[in-house]
Amino acid sequence: MVTVAYVQLSGCCGCLISLSDTYEKLIDILNSIDLVYCQTLADAREIPNADIIMVEGAVCLDDHHAMEVAKEVREKGKILVALGACSAIGGITRFCKGGQMPKPVQGSFSALSEVVKCDLAVPGCPPSPELIVNVIIAVLNGDMEYLSPFAKYAESTSTSCGCDLITNVINKSLCMGCGVCTSSCPTRAIEMIEGRPLVSSELCIKCGVCSFQCPRIELPKGVCQLDEE
Ligand code: SF4
Ligand code: SF4
Repeated sequence: MVTVAYVQLSGCCGCLISLSDTYEKLIDILNSIDLVYCQTLADAREIPNADIIMVEGAVCLDDHHAMEVAKEVREKGKILVALGACSAIGGITRFCKGGQMPKPVQGSFSALSEVVKCDLAVPGCPPSPELIVNVIIAVLNGDMEYLSPFAKYAESTSTSCGCDLITNVINKSLCMGCGVCTSSCPTRAIEMIEGRPLVSSELCIKCGVCSFQCPRIELPKGVCQLDEE
């Protein structure tokens, strides 16, 4: 049976809540895996070796324990999944490393994928229950075709934000005005103006979902323009 560990770092537990919102599908998944570690669901104190380790939350760079856990999950997981925006690309925790004024002087956070190599990254703040289930099923089935965008996302930089649409889609005349970015943004930071997305720097939490969902974008590599305003 496939062994799975679920590790929580600095986050809000929203990804775990989203996972639990899958209801009966979660029961099916739990019946087909061996959940060997989960702070809230399994009685285990040490992270064991596992076929799949899913990590929710960002890594606090000033926290020695968090840094050790980041290394540990990479060493112990055959497949390491950065689940949700904080773990995948930093998400809202990027504001704690100077992503937006005011810049705090204490503790800063990074995406897990910035600290250690992740095999898959799942966008979303939190990822939808359906997306989490689909990814888990694809991993269990070894469906690499379905997983390939998530593998690519794990290799992208953690500078993703709404402005990537401007840089990589609109300015290249690639936008077809489908509106997917608008409907996928969890903070409603994107408004469609005359058929083109307009991103609010005040509302963007840099989760990267819009870039992941846009059918016309290469996954983000760019510099954040909103930070330079
Ligand atoms: S515009 Fe919305 S979906 Fe895109 S990165 Fe910002 S918060 Fe996320
Ligand atoms: S998802 Fe991409 S193509 Fe569609 S409106 Fe947004 S930027 Fe344009």
